Amino acid sequence: MTKFIGILCWSDIIDGKKYQSINTAFSEMIEKAGATPIIFPQIAEMIKVDHFLDLVDGVLLIGGSDISPHLYGEDPTRYIWDTNPRRDVVEMNFLQRAIERKVPIFAVCRGMQLLNVYLGGDLYQDIYEQKEKVMNHSDRDNRKITYYHNISIEKDSHMEKIFGSKTLVNSYHHQAIRKLAGDLKATARANDGIIEAVEYKNEDQFILGVQFHPEVPEDNPKFQEIYKYFVSQL
Ligand code: MN
Repeated sequence: MTKFIGILCWSDIIDGKKYQSINTAFSEMIEKAGATPIIFPQIAEMIKVDHFLDLVDGVLLIGGSDISPHLYGEDPTRYIWDTNPRRDVVEMNFLQRAIERKVPIFAVCRGMQLLNVYLGGDLYQDIYEQKEKVMNHSDRDNRKITYYHNISIEKDSHMEKIFGSKTLVNSYHHQAIRKLAGDLKATARANDGIIEAVEYKNEDQFILGVQFHPEVPEDNPKFQEIYKYFVSQL
């Protein structure tokens, strides 16, 4: 019997029309890992969130716009990019129910940041303005450049089981975790201290968050392994 993973869409406005979509690589990599993806539109109503969760064995939160800073008690600085308050609400509701119901969660980039905020942590609205001696974690001038950096991985973590003690990851973010939520542990960091992976301390639920983008398989031969590992935890 196949396992089902629910992927929440991001939203976009293209030529004045509203779209909800995912990067196809997410569904392909989940399929390749032996599970079946189900794509969820952005519906916030709790009763429907529950119905969605009834359909799946795990949830995948994907990347996208900045997290609204009011969710961690701040006003936007000049350096914040676009936010999407509606999507914040949808994903916070999914996180609330998935955590209450102990549904396994894999959270990528924005998803990991939102998870940290949901659990009581906060974020750098912009690492370049708010953290000293930070390296390049993103293309800041829209030159379509991808930056890569090493991450060091904690022993006895899910991350270590997938990648070993060190690996090279892509980096497309200008926000990052500042105060880590008490229920999370940082299991990978870049050399400048930026948190690149988190895991749930509560061992009766699988939650893994990564700051990098494992949906780009050519960036690291082990990225496909993350999805296999996730499926093995369902
Ligand atoms: Mn990074």
